[in-house]
Amino acid sequence: MARFKNIDSLGALTGKRVLVRADLNVPIGTDEEGQKYVTDDTRIRSIAPTILKLIKGGAKVMVCSHFGRPKGDVIPEMSLEILAQPLSNVTGKAVVFLNEATGDGVKETLDAMEDDAILLLENLRFHEGEEANDPDFAAALAANADFFVSDAFSCSHRAHASTVGVANILPSAAGLALEKELLALEEALGSPLRPVAAVVGGAKVSSKLDVLTNLITRVDHLIIGGGMANTFLAAEGIDVGSSLCEHDLAGTARSILAKAKEIGCKIHLPSDVVAAKEFKAHAENRVTSKEDVQKDEMILDVGPASIDGIITDLKDCKTLIWNGPMGAFEIEPFDMATVKLAKAAAELTTSGQLISVAGGGDTVAALNHAKAADNFTHISTAGGAFLEWMEGKKLPGVEILKA
Ligand code: ADP
Ligand code: MG
Repeated sequence: MARFKNIDSLGALTGKRVLVRADLNVPIGTDEEGQKYVTDDTRIRSIAPTILKLIKGGAKVMVCSHFGRPKGDVIPEMSLEILAQPLSNVTGKAVVFLNEATGDGVKETLDAMEDDAILLLENLRFHEGEEANDPDFAAALAANADFFVSDAFSCSHRAHASTVGVANILPSAAGLALEKELLALEEALGSPLRPVAAVVGGAKVSSKLDVLTNLITRVDHLIIGGGMANTFLAAEGIDVGSSLCEHDLAGTARSILAKAKEIGCKIHLPSDVVAAKEFKAHAENRVTSKEDVQKDEMILDVGPASIDGIITDLKDCKTLIWNGPMGAFEIEPFDMATVKLAKAAAELTTSGQLISVAGGGDTVAALNHAKAADNFTHISTAGGAFLEWMEGKKLPGVEILKA
């Protein structure tokens, strides 16, 4: 199993200046008084243990991140300054914000700052060199630090100056959150306990083709739900009525099914479905066999018999990887299959029978909705990076931290 350089491998931290790459690209809302606030501080909380460990070890910590898409311009609305107070709240430390990420000002601020304070640098993407992984920008970032620690799995699929560039220059390590994430992912798909089940759902096959083609070579059961299942059912000659469906992908879907059969990966598609004429909460609906969907009906969820069958098979599995809801979970009652499966996976995990890893923006929302997320072995809040990992791609920001 691949090993990663961790904070301990950096050696003595006393007096060292450590640049921590975080993902502070958190969702921001505006309250009634027009004040901006962080609506979900999960990503801020996730980096606190790393920061506190570094400070405890005697290091001086500076935190860098991107925020939004300023594309190399200085856009005041995309300043990281509003994250200073939330970062202070979760760490219990003073946070000094600097409206720069490089230059002598960084050194001066670090020197002047209390040892256990945190320096928050300005949005990395105010510089074009960040996304271009410009060696000069990476060198400028590295110039004010002795060590580099990445704690941003969600950014590690991008080879940017702050994910790969600085890691090429400075002694580097994975932070505690990144280390935990990498171990969980390795456990789920690198060298998993078998049988392994993968659940892939969500809206479109086209957005997850590479995920499906990689998974059939790696897992024992591939459970396809959500809008994606419609494309596969249609490819098998089923009339899916007005369902969300990518008819032009029928050939691709058939070749995935054929390949899976050849390799011995069992594909699960729904045999009964929940159908409705309108895409809205509490729309009139009925449970029907997949063969009996009417022209004006949409499949909005996996049917109860199918989801019960899937749960029975899951009970024989030791590992589960999940991306994509089973149905239109945002509108009741079309959250039924997603919630049932989530609760079953959570119970199997709690009783020690299953290792469960899930990721994806809507998937995490769906598992929270089912009140199941806390019982999963690992929930990844990374969107693109999690999918690229499911596609079997090497993530540059992870590769560079291999020991
Ligand atoms: P994730 O963000 O976890 O990767 P996706 O973005 O791929 O997941 O998919 C989530 C979306 O898929 C949800 O908005 C959900 O409503 C939609 N969806 C799931 N099943 C269906 C369906 N049968 N018909 C239409 N939309 C669906
Ligand atoms: Mg999504």
